[in-house]
Amino acid sequence: MKITLFWHRRDFRLHDNAGLAAALSSGYPVVPLFIYDREILDLLPSRRDARVTFIYDQVERLAQETAQAGGTFLAMYGRPLEVFEQLLTRYEVAAVYTNEDYEPYAAERDTAVAELCQRHGATFQAYKDQVIFAKREILSKSGSPNRTFSSYRNAWLDKLQDEDLQPYPSKELFTAERLGHLPDAEPRPGLESMQFERFEQFVPAAELPAEAVVRNYHLTRNSPGQVNSSTRRSVHLRFGTLSVRELMRQARDLNPKLLAELIWRDYFMMLLWHFPNTATESYDPRLRHVPYRNNEEEFKAWCEGRTGYPLVDAGMRELNQTGYLPNRARIAAAGFLVKHLLIDWRWGDKYFADKLLDYDMAQNVGNWQWMAGTGVVAAPWFRVYSPQSQQEQYDPTFAYVWQWVPEFGTCEYPKPIVEHKFARQRAVDTLRAAYQAAG
Ligand SMILES: Cc1cc2nc3c(=O)[nH]c(=O)nc-3n(C[C@H](O)[C@H](O)[C@H](O)COP(=O)(O)OP(=O)(O)OC[C@H]3O[C@@H](n4cnc5c(N)ncnc54)[C@H](O)[C@@H]3O)c2cc1C
Repeated sequence: MKITLFWHRRDFRLHDNAGLAAALSSGYPVVPLFIYDREILDLLPSRRDARVTFIYDQVERLAQETAQAGGTFLAMYGRPLEVFEQLLTRYEVAAVYTNEDYEPYAAERDTAVAELCQRHGATFQAYKDQVIFAKREILSKSGSPNRTFSSYRNAWLDKLQDEDLQPYPSKELFTAERLGHLPDAEPRPGLESMQFERFEQFVPAAELPAEAVVRNYHLTRNSPGQVNSSTRRSVHLRFGTLSVRELMRQARDLNPKLLAELIWRDYFMMLLWHFPNTATESYDPRLRHVPYRNNEEEFKAWCEGRTGYPLVDAGMRELNQTGYLPNRARIAAAGFLVKHLLIDWRWGDKYFADKLLDYDMAQNVGNWQWMAGTGVVAAPWFRVYSPQSQQEQYDPTFAYVWQWVPEFGTCEYPKPIVEHKFARQRAVDTLRAAYQAAG
């Protein structure tokens, strides 16, 4: 019996899933698949990783939903090419369906898997699902990616049609007649068999945020100390437990500011696809050889939330304890690292990558390079936010700081690691010299 495999990656849901809907219409019984990818898992710094626990729980949920619908869900542990070699040899696979993934590693992996499928006489088909517009769908008049967000956003809004936000009927199609049943399927791996320990963190529900949160978003999003100040849906967008089309529809109907933030997400995803080298080097060639100070002691103080700047410290402590930090605290912490401490943005990017529950390469790299002034789109290199002004503006009652830095205001709280005016001047002088040296 010929089957179609549907390979889940960043789309842990049955409803409104573009690739899954296409697979279920392929004419062959569909067997959903997830691969615990050792190319990724073996590089994680800890065997207690909340993201791996989250993924594991989603895979188990999908497996149950598939069994209830009358089908088999395959979960395998290994390297994707080896897993596919095994599956394509063992089963008569007509096609592999999946949703596109725009990270550099994923793009290479998918090319190799597509070639392997071809050798086995199977097709490989990937669908746009995690963004509204991707790759070359929005380009400037000269045919290259827009270099300002406002021009990208305007083109994005001009292009948007109702059908771009329509849900796909994957859940409706997910019925016993369209699913494959493999009685000889291998048992799914457990966390322990992959040498991981269970490590849970709080993740809000995978549903659309309450209407009031969305309506007030533009008023609250910059108040990290306030409950429900933002949607807290980044983890679900990262893992596809929430459909981006659903959240976009809600944002379009209720709050243009939220819609704009979601367009940033599309934009950074598109930029990383066009410029995969920016994952590891500054986009601006003039800022590839900045003599960053990279002081390890200061980096450690930043990581641990001991800089003596309360908004930065509160953010880093929230990150360390929960795997989340609000956007305003991300901006304060990142700006302080790259400008006040003059530490390479890649150190901060790596630290966030290890800790953030919602870690997404495109969003993280795009935002870090924005803060460092080195990106495809970037804040002006000479902009150095004053931590004190940010504190006054975004957490004037210190509600956020008290939540995460209980010793603030006592003699136990450290003195500022560096004086703001001095650090500001040092950053501006260093970056100006780097520009001048590059000609
Ligand atoms: C240095 C730095 C690193 C970041 N790293 C990540 C990351 O790894 N993963 C990640 O998802 N976001 C990242 N962000 C963007 C942003 O901070 C988070 O998406 C947001 O704080 C998540 O909380 P929320 O869901 O409540 O966001 P909300 O404010 O409710 O926004 C809704 C959604 O819009 C999108 N969004 C909001 N702000 C941004 C932004 N600046 N850039 C891109 N998309 C945005 C996100 O998908 C978010 O979930 C980073 C920002 C900075 C400054």
